[in-house]
Amino acid sequence: MASPLQPVRGTRDLIGEDFRAHHHVVETARRVAALYGFEEWSTPIFEDTRVFSRGLGDTSDVVSKEMYTFTDRGGDSITLRPEATAGLCRALVSNGLVQSNLPRKVFYTGPMFRYERPQKGRYRQFHQIDVEVLGAAEPLADAEVIACGWDVLNALGIADGVVLEINTLGDAESRDAYRAALVAYLSDHRASLSEDSQVRLEKNPLRVLDSKDETDKRIVAGAPVMRDHLTADAARFYDKVLGYLTGFGVPFRQNDRIVRGLDYYSHTAFEFVTDRLGAQGTVLGGGRYNGLVEEMGGPPTPSVGWAAGIERLSMLLAAPPPAPRPVAVIPVAEAQEPEALALAQQLRAAGVVTEVAYKGNLKRRMERANKLHARVALILGEDEAKQGVVQFRDLDGGSQETLSRDEAVRRLSA
Ligand code: ATP
Ligand code: MG
Repeated sequence: MASPLQPVRGTRDLIGEDFRAHHHVVETARRVAALYGFEEWSTPIFEDTRVFSRGLGDTSDVVSKEMYTFTDRGGDSITLRPEATAGLCRALVSNGLVQSNLPRKVFYTGPMFRYERPQKGRYRQFHQIDVEVLGAAEPLADAEVIACGWDVLNALGIADGVVLEINTLGDAESRDAYRAALVAYLSDHRASLSEDSQVRLEKNPLRVLDSKDETDKRIVAGAPVMRDHLTADAARFYDKVLGYLTGFGVPFRQNDRIVRGLDYYSHTAFEFVTDRLGAQGTVLGGGRYNGLVEEMGGPPTPSVGWAAGIERLSMLLAAPPPAPRPVAVIPVAEAQEPEALALAQQLRAAGVVTEVAYKGNLKRRMERANKLHARVALILGEDEAKQGVVQFRDLDGGSQETLSRDEAVRRLSA
């Protein structure tokens, strides 16, 4: 026999409990997002590389080190999407949706791809849920997407122990002033910074604030903060966001170090963090991005949104939702199979999860029903078939009674 093939490093199969947890997260988020008026979109898993990599200025780890980029057979540079936002902005422009009917409120879910070092809570194919308000400059939009994220965590029963940390990255003018102060400070510590951060200091100094290196973190702890360099406009915008969050009843903590992992943010930046997942403590992150749609060739379209990792949310669930318990329809002998199948179809049509054991005598079929963790067995022998009834056996309580088939279906679909 050939040695068994393995999944590619950093990818995983979702089977049984793992799939049910994943599905539960998606369904819960979809339901909550719909309550806020988000409509669901689906865009391709791979895009023109330029959708994600926009010029030489991009210094984020995601774009500079983690992308799955390849040349396809036609010679085009293609990238498996590392995130949803850029593709959604591309779709807004390519579908001509930028002129009218803004804002568009979009919910998204699907697989994302990043070439990272795999570990618990960090994969090369992972999955996100994502909400974006495309084309809204108002601070209320920032607060609303955050409130939606908070509601998703509450609906999943995992909000306890997760904290919203929020920061502002200001507008362009604020950022220029801040960058100058930050560069002055970091330059004094240049020799002690990690190699990566020395490069960041040259290319995009704000990115040093996001470093995961321990020495960098100690240096960053003493760095000047954006809040002291905000223009009056940027400060007012941030105050409004915080005020609306209070209005929505979302608790938060200000954290001057949050800059986010992608380069396109301005004004609001936020993360929902927990200490229950070790180094992978950010479950949800997002912010405002005012220039991205323009970079896709559209008009100025200020937007705000977030993405959350489904694997990390799943790990926080207290218990994955249980598998549904079927009803087992059991023909005692082959002669009763046609009637058993008709009864099974009647049950399924009434919305009842139903299984028919494929083969064997009554004993074998009952064993199969127990393995399936069936809640009820409907047993059809020769007499039952003649009289149009079934034996209704409660597999938890053990009681058994004779019921007409319609009565059995009625009871099980209630
Ligand atoms: P991190 O700091 O953990 O690398 P990030 O800032 O790169 O996260 P985002 O790009 O903001 O993450 O993506 C939003 C969310 O997607 C993260 O908060 C996390 O829950 C999830 N996520 C990101 N990368 C991965 C990954 N490789 N595996 C699993 N989940 C991930
Ligand atoms: Mg990352």
